[in-house]
Amino acid sequence: MSILKQYKPASPYTAGGRPAWLPVLGIVLLAHLVILLGWACRRPQRPEQTQEPAPDDGETVAVATNAVPERTMPERFPRNTYMPNIREGEASGSIHMPTFSPGRDLIYIDDPRAWWESDHDGDYDDECGRSIHKHLEAPLRRVIEAVAARGATLKVQDAYRPTGIHNKRSLHREGRAVDLTCDGLELEELAKICWVAGFDWVYHECPKGGGDHIHASVRR
Ligand SMILES: [Zn+2]
Repeated sequence: MSILKQYKPASPYTAGGRPAWLPVLGIVLLAHLVILLGWACRRPQRPEQTQEPAPDDGETVAVATNAVPERTMPERFPRNTYMPNIREGEASGSIHMPTFSPGRDLIYIDDPRAWWESDHDGDYDDECGRSIHKHLEAPLRRVIEAVAARGATLKVQDAYRPTGIHNKRSLHREGRAVDLTCDGLELEELAKICWVAGFDWVYHECPKGGGDHIHASVRR
């Protein structure tokens, strides 16, 4: 009798009447909940940054941006030199008349701070000094701005000219080149400004017969 009284089988219940495994189950459920929450709130992963595939037709694709390229003002820009020091065709690309469309590629530009030769020459050729290739607009506007800020006046001597004085391969035929001079500023300074403004090729052109100017061009 005393043995029976001392023997007490392990009860599955605690003193409060709840099953002993209940707290364990609670902890396990809580752990799962935390894991599930962590999974759900995980930051979505960014797709890997991919590089645009290079065009396979060999053509250079110009980056469509109005951002000013990071260029430092050169110390010198001597007469009859150009930047970068490669041929214009390499820097700005050759003309290709079959794929050039004046209606699609040219824009009309105006700025009262600049002087436009075509307004004053009085001749009636096919020159239109205010028609330029759309990619020429941003650097040209920066040059007008920078020259005006120095109290000088930019003179746009020539821009789009489909026929006439320029050679057959001239980028003027696509409106991708301008010839610039300046009132109140040295041409060398203007050449530096053109380079910083983002033209793809800048030439401090001083022909033997006179008519020094800055020829600046852009890629398509
Ligand atoms: Zn020119």
